[in-house]
Amino acid sequence: MTNVAFIGLGNMGSGMCANLVRAGHDVCAFDLRPEAIVAAVEAGAVAAETLRAAVERAEVVITMLPAGEHVLSVYFGAEGVVAHAPEGALFLDCSTISVEDARRAATQAEDAGFLMVDAPVSGGVTGAEAGTLTFMVGGSEAGFSRARPLLDIMGTNVFHAGGAGNGQVAKIANNMLLGISMIGTCEAFNLAERLGLDAQTFFDIASTASGQCWSMTSYCPAPGPVPTAPSNRGFEAGFAIAMMLKDLNLARAAAETAEADIPLGGHAGDIYSRLEADGFAGLDFSAVMRRIRGEI
Ligand code: NAD
Repeated sequence: MTNVAFIGLGNMGSGMCANLVRAGHDVCAFDLRPEAIVAAVEAGAVAAETLRAAVERAEVVITMLPAGEHVLSVYFGAEGVVAHAPEGALFLDCSTISVEDARRAATQAEDAGFLMVDAPVSGGVTGAEAGTLTFMVGGSEAGFSRARPLLDIMGTNVFHAGGAGNGQVAKIANNMLLGISMIGTCEAFNLAERLGLDAQTFFDIASTASGQCWSMTSYCPAPGPVPTAPSNRGFEAGFAIAMMLKDLNLARAAAETAEADIPLGGHAGDIYSRLEADGFAGLDFSAVMRRIRGEI
């Protein structure tokens, strides 16, 4: 049984926190929103009134926060984790943040005597609730082995991707590919339909041919062939356009730093950015199908 401080009990953190409690860990929960703490207490966690109170006895501090600035301020602010966590505590950040912020946080945490690992996730809110997330972990072997038992409770696939920040590298490279492949899938279905080939027949062919990809076989943006896909429920998210755009922007920034050419990743970012500006941020990212069809 581990003393865990869980900071950030939003869409993702609430389910992850509940799974740790269910597995028998002592979880002290903190969020800026009191109602999020109340929900965590209902799931069996102990409420903390302040960040400091949450981390004071923690062996592991888990953060699931919106962006890098939140993680850095929670870690290094005056009333933050570095100032008040006990010696030897492990920092486990599951938020999606920039590679640069993750590496900076790990170095600064290490300078203060703490191990930190970045462990961003894929699998969304349903994966967080069901404990079936995929974790991509960056950090030392020692940090990874200490984090692993908790990650195995919250997820089903846990990968050690290498040193600090490499979890974030895996996450943004994967999601950039997802953004590109989703747009490509939409273009292919739209082209086929315009030329007189219905979606189901094209799906039956392409899903067993060389155009096959996850965006098609698990999440088909054309309504019909994959009944569980958001395309069959009005493109309700799922994985919202705003979240995809966040990851594509992180990929673009990282690519600039690394001087890696990402012409299609950049173009995908522009397409999602226009959808967001036009008021569609909350739709599922596969709703790019509606734009390509000229419907929105
Ligand atoms: P969310 O906005 O629902 O939750 C974030 C929580 O952090 C909120 O409850 C907020 O009040 C809290 N918070 C913000 N600043 C805080 C602070 N200083 N101290 C304490 N609490 C603070 O976001 P989410 O959807 O749960 O996503 C969390 C992270 O997971 C993000 O980095 C996101 O990119 C990533 N992610 C989300 C999904 C998804 O499907 N929602 C999927 C994969 C990864």
